[in-house]
Amino acid sequence: MSTKTIDEAQERAEKKGAEVLEVEPARGGGSYVLQKLKCGKPSCRCAGPGGELHGPHWYHNWKMDRKTKRIKQCSTIDAKS
Ligand SMILES: [Zn+2]
Repeated sequence: MSTKTIDEAQERAEKKGAEVLEVEPARGGGSYVLQKLKCGKPSCRCAGPGGELHGPHWYHNWKMDRKTKRIKQCSTIDAKS
C-alpha cells in the first residue's frame, strides 16, 4: 500500500473540480475514490462555481502505461475484502 498513490489520486480529482470524500487503497493496485464530480457539460447543474456536483460515486483509479485509468464502480464496494 502506498499513501503517496492515495494522495495523488485525491489531488488529481480536486484539481478537476471534484470533491473527494474517501480514498481506499485497492487490492491489485490503484485506489478507490469516493468522489463527487463535474461531468464537463457547460449547461449542466454541476457547471460553474458553486455548482451541484454529481455523485458521490466510487471510482477505481489506477495507472497503466503511464496513464491514469478510471472506471466507475457499483454504488457499494468492499475494498478490504
Ligand atoms: Zn454535470
